Amino acid sequence: MPEYPPSLERLLHELEKLPGIGPRTALRLAFHLLKQPLGNSQALALGLTEARTKLHPCRECFNLTEEVLCRVCQAGNRDRSSLLAVEDPSDLAAFERTHEYHGLYHVLGGTLSPLEGRGPSDLTLDALVARVKKSGDLKEVIVATDPTVEGDSTALYIQQILKNVPAGGEPGRTIKVTRLARGLPSGGDVEYVDEVTLLKALEGRREI
Ligand SMILES: [Zn+2]
Repeated sequence: MPEYPPSLERLLHELEKLPGIGPRTALRLAFHLLKQPLGNSQALALGLTEARTKLHPCRECFNLTEEVLCRVCQAGNRDRSSLLAVEDPSDLAAFERTHEYHGLYHVLGGTLSPLEGRGPSDLTLDALVARVKKSGDLKEVIVATDPTVEGDSTALYIQQILKNVPAGGEPGRTIKVTRLARGLPSGGDVEYVDEVTLLKALEGRREI
């Protein structure tokens, strides 16, 4: 016999699927929502459905956007000589919050992880290679994956696949591949690092 009425059980079940939400937090959130006016719950459900249906990956960099190209790719004032490769759109947002990185991005869609069954074709690596081949302005790809075993091996893999790619289609010209400096908490998540630490890691980046 479930402990709660079916509709509450269902709400708890859905909340518990969210990252970092265990049964106790789910219960706290559910009771909080149920205390609020009905309009608040409706606005939450609508906001969620709308974001989920309207947002899709940017054609160029795979950031989330409601248009064909995201705001960063559309902006005329970005430095097109560098491209910061991040795992997820949330990491991109973390770098944007520093207001100090003015280049472009490439959202990889995660890291390589043999254990979790994620191989190169599950990431946006083909699109990354295509961007390097196509762009005459690009000089550097900065790999900003998380400082984890998977993040490091993904960075190395990117360096391997890009080292022979002719930049801008010019034979013999290749781009530099760099990695964020150590100093980020090891095993941590780029998304949750404060802006100052993130900037330091960016400034101290090293060639792979
Ligand atoms: Zn974009």
